[in-house]
Amino acid sequence: MADDSIAVVDLDRCQPDRCSYECANYCPPNRTGKECITERGEDTVEGDPGQIRISEEICLGETCGICVDKCPFDAIEIINLPSELDEEPVHRYGENAFSLYGLPTPEPGNVTGILGPNGIGKSTAVHGLAGEMVPNLGDHERDGDWDRVLDRFRGTGLQNYLESLRDGDVSVSRKPQYVDQIPKQFDGNTRELLERTDERGALDELIDRLNIGPVMDQDIDSISGGELQRVAIAACLARDADFYFLDEITPYLDIGQRMVVARLIGELADDDTGDRSMLVVEHDLAILDLLADTLHVAYGEPGAYGVITDPKSVRNGINEYLKGYLDNENMRIRPSAITFEEHAPRVTSRSETLVEYPDLRKSYGDGEFELRVEGGEINHSEVLGAVGPNGIGKSTLAKLLTGDLAPDEGELDFALDISYKPQYVEIDQPMRVDAFLSSIADQFGSSYWNTEIAQPLQLERIMEQNLTDLSGGERQRVAIAACLSDDADLYLLDEPSAHLDVEQRVRATTAIRRYAENHDATVMVIDHDIYMIDLLADRLMVFDGEPAERGRASPPQEMRDGMNDFLADLDITFRRDERTGRPRINKPGSQLDSQQKRNGEYYYS
Ligand code: ADP
Ligand code: ADP
Ligand code: SF4
Repeated sequence: MADDSIAVVDLDRCQPDRCSYECANYCPPNRTGKECITERGEDTVEGDPGQIRISEEICLGETCGICVDKCPFDAIEIINLPSELDEEPVHRYGENAFSLYGLPTPEPGNVTGILGPNGIGKSTAVHGLAGEMVPNLGDHERDGDWDRVLDRFRGTGLQNYLESLRDGDVSVSRKPQYVDQIPKQFDGNTRELLERTDERGALDELIDRLNIGPVMDQDIDSISGGELQRVAIAACLARDADFYFLDEITPYLDIGQRMVVARLIGELADDDTGDRSMLVVEHDLAILDLLADTLHVAYGEPGAYGVITDPKSVRNGINEYLKGYLDNENMRIRPSAITFEEHAPRVTSRSETLVEYPDLRKSYGDGEFELRVEGGEINHSEVLGAVGPNGIGKSTLAKLLTGDLAPDEGELDFALDISYKPQYVEIDQPMRVDAFLSSIADQFGSSYWNTEIAQPLQLERIMEQNLTDLSGGERQRVAIAACLSDDADLYLLDEPSAHLDVEQRVRATTAIRRYAENHDATVMVIDHDIYMIDLLADRLMVFDGEPAERGRASPPQEMRDGMNDFLADLDITFRRDERTGRPRINKPGSQLDSQQKRNGEYYYS
């Protein structure tokens, strides 16, 4: 067959005792007596006896694809690899398993970024670069050996690194993707966790700059996701290593905290030793842009194969990614481009008012925290962005609007029915995704619901899984779907971007906007990803003040005024990429930064 095609069988899904081998019964080569789809024998190394294997020599390729449609469990993928991909895999996990093409190049003294969807092989690549696995160069029957890998990468930017790895000279420090798992693995308080990592004598400074002090004596299982994220980053950066790998640094952090983390990573790459390599996977493009010195784009088919490109400049990498077309690779990775409005922020058409509220004040306890809200109005069918640091009173305002809390000053003569997705998604009943969603969504399973909600949020493949088995990104998508499926006056989503990869953010943005437009729904989105807020919001509400002490909420304002207000408080300006109009954070103190601050134009020129 076409030798540019691969067959991938998901062994967690293949359940031959429940399907009577529909795939093999209908496979054209099988029907002519060839052994294309066969059963795994008793001696199978991967999976169970009876599960299928597919011969990539005999299979007719994607144009046939009959088995893919026949399998009731979505266990099979047949994929024609792009013809531009002329190399062999770096690693393949097994027969009919995931293949990885290409490796990122750690560079001493530099921050290397990886941009791409989840499930595309980024962790696989890091297992290789951390020396935890020797890549098998696609031959899964042969154990990997470093000399073969070195032969393959001789003369490339990876040669020196791989030589050190072979000689056992690379030490590694890593920050895992899902920090929520840490309390399951560690029993003790923050201080005990961090003290074990203080190999460079830098821990005190990290604790100070990441503002971890207040939770040092708290048990790890009692601190919030945002605190856990900062503790995990401190633990990773406190170590004395040659290779640092940070898998997502921004979930649950506000923009100020994201900037601090970006700066700390840059400083460690630049330290006196000059030989530390930093590798960062990140889906917040504004932060990735600020942080990385070079960038690899990852593309492919999540779960089936992934390609990590050669390094690009950060600017080109992000521009090509947004354009959906990789220039050097001659590769289209998305049908259409993602674009930003450069000069003319959306000015909302004066739509009907949903609610008007007066100035409000609410404090907790003996004035431990006080929120002041300036009166304003929320319009029907608008997407209202809300920005501001953590702990500034955003959820408090939501509770005032629902009537769960009464204001100390000011009066609300309405109680909105709000469908709320909290920042920390806690849906882990022992229940299947489809049962959970059908209990919430009246329209569950209708073609409308499927097109507007299930498809853009990519729920089809996880419908039969248990809520408890979902990854962070999967759980987030289910929670967004659940929020939008409820009948409410106002849909309030707190940090929908957390744990979504960059492609999923784009899809979720489209789903939320389309839902607001088609459903005449009013949506409020709190998020710290500036690109997502820019793409989503019609107007902006800005929170400022001193987190955990006092907060102020502005009335909803036009995007230009709102962005200026918000960014002035953070002291950050954005310029526009000359070629694509994409917003980019200015280097603090640069000529543009100072000029824009003088003109009071922080975001739109
Ligand atoms: P990413 O880090 O980009 O999210 P991973 O490298 O974790 O992606 O995984 C890429 C693919 O490889 C996934 O589909 C995963 O299921 C598969 N995979 C990971 N580890 C193994 C393994 N030990 N055996 C078979 N498949 C694996
Ligand atoms: P945000 O949503 O912006 O992160 P919140 O509205 O949740 O902020 O909280 C603002 C501040 O009020 C925080 O310091 C929080 O600890 C405090 N707070 C929230 N709820 C209560 C409460 N019920 N009692 C006392 N303090 C609270
Ligand atoms: Fe058989 Fe390949 Fe067709 Fe599947 S795609 S039915 S394995 S020939």
